[in-house]
Amino acid sequence: MHNANDCIFCKIVNKEIPADIVKETANFIVIKDINPVSPIHLLIISKRHYNSILDVKGEGEIYGNEIFGLCGELAVEFNAVDKGFRVAINTKEDGGQTVDHMHIHFMAGRRFTWPPG
Ligand code: 5GP
Ligand code: ZN
Repeated sequence: MHNANDCIFCKIVNKEIPADIVKETANFIVIKDINPVSPIHLLIISKRHYNSILDVKGEGEIYGNEIFGLCGELAVEFNAVDKGFRVAINTKEDGGQTVDHMHIHFMAGRRFTWPPG
């Protein structure tokens, strides 16, 4: 599915609604989360609409490489190499996903606890 109707992240990708865009690559945009849970809270959003990572299927290899690369770049750009960061992909109900368009949280700037709540 491409450009799902009424999908807030599709609208951000298509620049129909504004967002604080940090970076753009072939398959992703990176924006600042509107409701940050940490001093640095970015969302790596696929340009294509997938309801969740479960729908990516055969394209996973490309996306996986790009996501890992992006995390490394963001760590450098947001000064999180030394102290570290957390990456999360909330998926469906039990994962706490609230926007049904595949995205990855990149969070840094404070100490996170484990296990998550
Ligand atoms: P999820 O709960 O699906 O893992 O993550 C969705 C994230 O998107 C939340 O952290 C929420 O704050 C963020 N978010 C929801 N709507 C918007 C928006 O319109 N703009 C931005 N920048 N972030 C949003
Ligand atoms: Zn979408």
